[in-house]
Amino acid sequence: MSAIEFWLKTSRVAKSLERSDELGAAERRFGIPRRDFLQFAATLVASMGLPSSALGAVVNAMTQSKRPSVIWLQFQECTGCTESLLRAEHPTLEKLILELVSLDYHETLMAAAGHQVEEARKAAMEANRGKYILVVEGAIPVKENGIYCKVGGQTAVDMVKEVAAGAAAVISIGSCASWGGMPATAPNPTGASSAGSVLGKPVVTIPGCPPSPYNFLSTVVHFLTFGALPEVDAKGRPKFAYGRLIHENCERRAHFDAGRFALQFGDEGHRQGWCLYKLGCKGPETYANCPQLLFNDCGVGAWPVGTGHPCIGCTEEGVGFTKPIHALADLKTVTPPVQFARPAEPQGVGATAVTAGTAAVLGGLAIGAGLKLADKLGKKDDEAASKEPPEKKP
Ligand code: SF4
Repeated sequence: MSAIEFWLKTSRVAKSLERSDELGAAERRFGIPRRDFLQFAATLVASMGLPSSALGAVVNAMTQSKRPSVIWLQFQECTGCTESLLRAEHPTLEKLILELVSLDYHETLMAAAGHQVEEARKAAMEANRGKYILVVEGAIPVKENGIYCKVGGQTAVDMVKEVAAGAAAVISIGSCASWGGMPATAPNPTGASSAGSVLGKPVVTIPGCPPSPYNFLSTVVHFLTFGALPEVDAKGRPKFAYGRLIHENCERRAHFDAGRFALQFGDEGHRQGWCLYKLGCKGPETYANCPQLLFNDCGVGAWPVGTGHPCIGCTEEGVGFTKPIHALADLKTVTPPVQFARPAEPQGVGATAVTAGTAAVLGGLAIGAGLKLADKLGKKDDEAASKEPPEKKP
């Protein structure tokens, strides 16, 4: 049983919430059992770093019948961000996203085409002026007056400016919209640019290639609950998701601290699950919660480093799609904090209970996703501790 499941079973607040009319309405509306819905809401509360007392407000916001209008524009991109949201393994995630917001314009999902959809976009903008959320997916080409990307005869530059003018909030989803991403790779022939730079104002960015759908959903739920977007860092990224280096929460960190590195793909160190720093892992200079949230609800190890590939720094401007994959990362932290797993501690698969638990505590998560992970992994660490540690390389 995870920490969140345990808390939901034992907390009086959770029990009264579970019996509430709001959860009954949610069950009917979303077709999701009350307990599952509550668990999902609790996970979002934890991933946003909110105290458990915020659960009632989050449930209330998620179950209200009024859904904010969302206009979702797609420019220079591969549709991976949209796919990541819709193809999430969790059966309720895409349903929740589509139920929580009124997706009034989305080129990939709209059944209609041509003039009809452009009219629908304009009608949604007019009806919700000053209240809708604009989500931008993909970079915006600015060279040659923006002729490299046109939708409905309008350049991406003109369209994003037009729609942003009446929006309550602008969210850049994915690395391309956040800072140019893949289309902006040198020599950047189309002048691919971020939404923030084209609009000339800061926007909330959720970089990643693709980004975690939970980070997007948490941002939307924060807006629904508090009427404001979450606190962001200097690059516009929500601090709850991008506040810590990947290197600090990586399950291979103890190998880094002990000097155990894979030197080639497929060598002994790589097969043993040792640190990928010398293969070019950018975890030491990349801020994101990938090792905590993982991907596709597949469990431990379901993220790039977990599967044996170095992090390419896709959430970090100036790193992802900029630095060569084999180039060594700049180390932001060298000495491991005392809370980290001991270098001599045997390392198995996935984050250790110590590192995951520490992530939760330091992130201010009352019932954090990291703690949930720690709970799951405690058994694995115990099992690993009973085995011989891998031999240290000279
Ligand atoms: Fe993990 Fe990469 Fe840091 Fe090694 S360098 S501990 S693989 S994030």
